[in-house]
Amino acid sequence: MALWKKILIGMIAGILVGAFLGPEAELLKPIGTLFINAIKMLIVPLVFCSLVVGVTSMQDTAKMGRIGIKSILIYLATTAVAISIGLGLGTIFEPGAGLNMQPDAGAAAAAKEAPSLVSTLIGLIPKNPIEALAGGKILQIIVFALGLGIALNLIGEKGEPAVKMFNSLAEAMYKLTELVMKFAPYGIFALMAWVAGKYGLEVLLPLIKVIAAVYIGCILHVLVVYSGAISVIAGLKPVQYLKGIVNAQMMAFTSTSSSGTLPVSIRCARENLGVSKGTASFVLPLGATINMDGTALYQGVCALFIAQAFGIDLSMADYMTIIATATLASVGTAGVPGAGLIMLSLVLTTVGLPMEGLAIVAGIDRILDMARTCVNVSGDLMVSVLIGKSENELNEDIYNAKDPVSEPEMVQS
Ligand code: ASP
Repeated sequence: MALWKKILIGMIAGILVGAFLGPEAELLKPIGTLFINAIKMLIVPLVFCSLVVGVTSMQDTAKMGRIGIKSILIYLATTAVAISIGLGLGTIFEPGAGLNMQPDAGAAAAAKEAPSLVSTLIGLIPKNPIEALAGGKILQIIVFALGLGIALNLIGEKGEPAVKMFNSLAEAMYKLTELVMKFAPYGIFALMAWVAGKYGLEVLLPLIKVIAAVYIGCILHVLVVYSGAISVIAGLKPVQYLKGIVNAQMMAFTSTSSSGTLPVSIRCARENLGVSKGTASFVLPLGATINMDGTALYQGVCALFIAQAFGIDLSMADYMTIIATATLASVGTAGVPGAGLIMLSLVLTTVGLPMEGLAIVAGIDRILDMARTCVNVSGDLMVSVLIGKSENELNEDIYNAKDPVSEPEMVQS
């Protein structure tokens, strides 16, 4: 049976068992944590090795710069669309209407300060690459790996042994990802049971409109915006894209971490979508760190929800501010569970909405995080296809293969 089918069964069984056990399902959580840890173990070596390999296999530095700029532009554009969808749905659904909440001065949560642009830029260069690797600082790792890859290209023959070593390490990490993924159905079963047990219907019902608005927005974004881009911009069949990313989506949905899903996304991009090794290993780690469309969409819905719940009217200028801040906030959001909630505080402060709103959203944040992370990861994969297609780095035979999710042997490119 294909892996995604086993994972799907694990998910459904997990929800049923969790609903039956209630909070007791917490007992199963360690099995899920074990799986998540095993995947996390892969991130740093995989990103580092595969990025070095990507750069050394590309040779052409101008092409690399072009890919970087194109990716960032598409990332930002789709994020702005996502947040507009969030604001639109927040207006239509009015999830906070009639709640009549009063700001309570004592309960204000601490707002997150926006980091300055200069400090963000300076922070991109690791003073100590080993520290960046040890701390899992993906953007710093990307910068160091790019530098190392370019240097290896420049020294030509002398660099070959190192290039071979990185190549073989990268292949080993892909294989290890495949092995760890065999455990996915069980890990995902345990995580779903825990979530379903923790959030019974009583917790979810009062906030059902927020949940519905976020989920509908997320589904629309993937089905309309991403599929549309695949079909209109790349001229490819969106169905193949949707089929090819199922494993990564399920992983994102249950782990609520785009960084944690990275090893699986890279596999999906290469094996199912036919994106070249170089492009996948450059575009996806970058996307997992800065491209968070689901998070932006969620921030739009939640900002409106909180404004409505506290009876605050927002002006057109406020909407514009929300679009700008949420786009930037989503870039600064780490691809880890719950990070979007912290960044929501930034959006709330900029438009002067009460921080207490965070507490209400926090109660159901995991449920919202599952959907938004799924979109974050789907967006990264969509961009990898667009870039692959425009740079002639996409194998259309693999992309159009009949059953892309049937775990074919690793594609060597
Ligand atoms: N959990 C999300 C992610 O990893 C970030 C967020 O909390 O919005 O993509």
